[in-house]
Amino acid sequence: IVVTTDVRKNFGSVQALDGVSIQIPAGQVLCIVGPSGSGKSTLLRCINQLERIDSGAVWVDGELIGYRRVGDKLYELTDAEIARQRLTSGMVFQRFNLFQHMTALENIIEGPVTVQKRRRTQAIDEALVLLERVGLSAKRDAYPSELSGGQQQRVAIARALAMKPKLMLFDEPTSALDPELVGEVLAVMKDLARSGMTMIVVTHELGFAREVANEVVFMDRGAIVERGSPQEVLVHPKQQRTRDFIAAVL
Ligand code: ATP
Ligand code: MG
Repeated sequence: IVVTTDVRKNFGSVQALDGVSIQIPAGQVLCIVGPSGSGKSTLLRCINQLERIDSGAVWVDGELIGYRRVGDKLYELTDAEIARQRLTSGMVFQRFNLFQHMTALENIIEGPVTVQKRRRTQAIDEALVLLERVGLSAKRDAYPSELSGGQQQRVAIARALAMKPKLMLFDEPTSALDPELVGEVLAVMKDLARSGMTMIVVTHELGFAREVANEVVFMDRGAIVERGSPQEVLVHPKQQRTRDFIAAVL
């Protein structure tokens, strides 16, 4: 459901993405690994239109992102149209960015109620199911400051899921966590993958990638250096740059 073709993105003289093409069929998990500055976050941000691409194309769920094609001309979408497209994907960031003045439950129903104009009672019912799913039913009325990092990140996942996205994007969701809290967040993500969610996960958790990914992509300097099954890329990498990276992460 996600296709990017030859996506390029520069920031001034920095080539953050230098022709990136990926394809993720529905229900599959793509893990992206690579050193700092290799363009992993930029790729997610382009898919989710937090950044505008310079050239190439991105399709999500069959729709060209950011543009409308009329004949052989492309027209930029309006902000409202982009906002609508952005709802197709849910994103979870490295830093849990929950609303600090809202409880876990309020965080989860905020998007459905204010953005999607759904009925509050219905949003609450669905939020309670999601809290159960991420193992936090007991914390529905807790504020973010009363939750551990791992719990906050699980609320962030539930909040993204509350918008019923067709695609979930994770940008190093566990790298800001204390080591003992990483497992509980990865467990929720594994569960989500098993339920058939289409996911793109930027992570240094190679064990997770080996276990859950259908495909792994290794990026360096804005480009894909190597791609394949977890076994191919993480266990028997062909490229020296991939080997060096894996040795450094392990
Ligand atoms: P990390 O593992 O550290 O998160 P990354 O692979 O996610 O790295 P990106 O954040 O995508 O890397 O950055 C790719 C390149 O683009 C880097 O050189 C970065 O400095 C640059 N870059 C990213 N965002 C911006 C921005 N908003 N303005 C200027 N340069 C940027
Ligand atoms: Mg990043």
